[in-house]
Amino acid sequence: MSQPKPNRSKSSVKPPRPVTPSPGRARHAPRKAEAAEWSPEARDALAWTHSARFFTTAAKLDQLPASELPEVAFVGRSNAGKSTAVNTLAQQRQLAFASKTPGRTQHINLFQVGPKAAPDQVWADLPGYGYAAVDRTAKLRWQEVMAQYLAQRRNLAAVVQMVDSRHGFTELDQQLLDFVAPRVRTGEVKLLVLLTKADKLNRKEQAESLRSAQAVLAEVATEESDVGIALFSSLARIGLDDAALALRSWAAPADVAQREAELAAARAAELAELQALSGEPAKPPRGR
Ligand code: GDP
Repeated sequence: MSQPKPNRSKSSVKPPRPVTPSPGRARHAPRKAEAAEWSPEARDALAWTHSARFFTTAAKLDQLPASELPEVAFVGRSNAGKSTAVNTLAQQRQLAFASKTPGRTQHINLFQVGPKAAPDQVWADLPGYGYAAVDRTAKLRWQEVMAQYLAQRRNLAAVVQMVDSRHGFTELDQQLLDFVAPRVRTGEVKLLVLLTKADKLNRKEQAESLRSAQAVLAEVATEESDVGIALFSSLARIGLDDAALALRSWAAPADVAQREAELAAARAAELAELQALSGEPAKPPRGR
């Protein structure tokens, strides 16, 4: 795939590497056998993604905690396979289904990744868009939250957009891409598009799906941009290693993570002191 690699040229959406075992075989292949095919780096990256844990949830941008840690947003149409992909990457059954519990479906759910004492990345699971049952007001509100988040979240480092490989970029997928496109073009925000449920396509269809998505992504690819694309299947475990490697490459360096952990501890201590003084629960600092 054309996913980010440390020394790659950044100028274009590159063609993918030859893909995947046949869907039938992959679907039934034992997990261990597949893991053995992964490079030591990919296994390390997957051990790291496994550390993901729920952090907090917010209904609005200004309710998100301010942070210097690189944040990676997972976005996609409802039913694109986003929750399953996040769970598969984290190798946890329930992690992203927090985002599907009643009352949280329109929320941004944050997960911390990396060492417990000094997390080095945050994942933001954004509400799935385009769900038919959502009424118009909810849809407009969602659009506003998403647009604001993607355009303004200060520590947004990358977006992982899940697009169903059978349908390609729909109008809503395109709209979402437009929200973040200005920051992708300058290279401020990296983009990885995962073409999900690739197990449902044969090789020819997979190649075609990649080709059409690449054509769409050409419009955000510049000299500065960092845009990747990969076939992905939670079921057949296609692209898991590449996605984990990309995520890992966006983690904060250890010193930055350490400093952020110290800041968070200092803020928590300050808050506890304020609470003790006022006798009332104090609100933690929030920001964009
Ligand atoms: P979300 O709404 O984007 O979070 O989508 P879900 O993760 O809930 O998945 C929607 C549906 O697609 C569910 O029925 C999943 O079982 C199915 N699904 C998810 N990932 C895959 C995959 O890799 N392959 C196949 N064939 N189905 C998948």
